[in-house]
Amino acid sequence: MSYVFAPPAVVSAPVVGTTARLPVHRIYCVGSNYRAHAQEMGRTGREPPVFFMKPADALLPVEAGECGELPYPSLTHNFHHEVELVVAIGHGGRDIQAEHALEHVFGYAVGLDMTRRDLQAEMKKRSAPWCIGKGFDHAAPLGPVTPAAQAGQMGAGEIALSVNGAERQRSALGEMIWNVPEIIAHLSAAWTLAPGDLIFTGTPAGVGAVERGDVLEATCTGLESLRVRVS
Ligand code: MN
Repeated sequence: MSYVFAPPAVVSAPVVGTTARLPVHRIYCVGSNYRAHAQEMGRTGREPPVFFMKPADALLPVEAGECGELPYPSLTHNFHHEVELVVAIGHGGRDIQAEHALEHVFGYAVGLDMTRRDLQAEMKKRSAPWCIGKGFDHAAPLGPVTPAAQAGQMGAGEIALSVNGAERQRSALGEMIWNVPEIIAHLSAAWTLAPGDLIFTGTPAGVGAVERGDVLEATCTGLESLRVRVS
């Protein structure tokens, strides 16, 4: 087969313990999944899950021990961090039941759901899609993926984010409104999940703005940390 121009490169993420990489299919995100963050955004925290997507090539994969470069995006004056546990799907499926959901997980990573908050807020006001606030270039920094067997029991850990060494976000993963199996069950009722799908599972309270030159460090129990510098 020939193409009229070169097809796009496969987007991929590093995997702990191997030089083989995880090829990325889609990036799904859960809109609001920690009660305290839902409340800081003006909701009760009891609403059903909200899903949105980022384009796969919005991924900014960062190798273990490295500091990725995150370009400050255009059109915004309020560029926000949201630290999130990210689930990598290894076996696809649809209508997956929560009790079987973890069999579909390849591994976990810590990621950042970077957000042009002013543009997202404007779209919310107009009841319009969030794409311009959430789906821009480099909007999804991601650390190395740890295979599930090595990561252990993810629900028991903590997730945190610091900016220039000062802590901004910290939460037990157990504070999620919808846990990972429930998220996979809900998502796979709406879309057929495929190997390489990434799911950003929502951010705890403490979101806020970053500026050029800031260094963000995202950590999660049992996973490689993620460092990026805003440029
Ligand atoms: Mn988010």
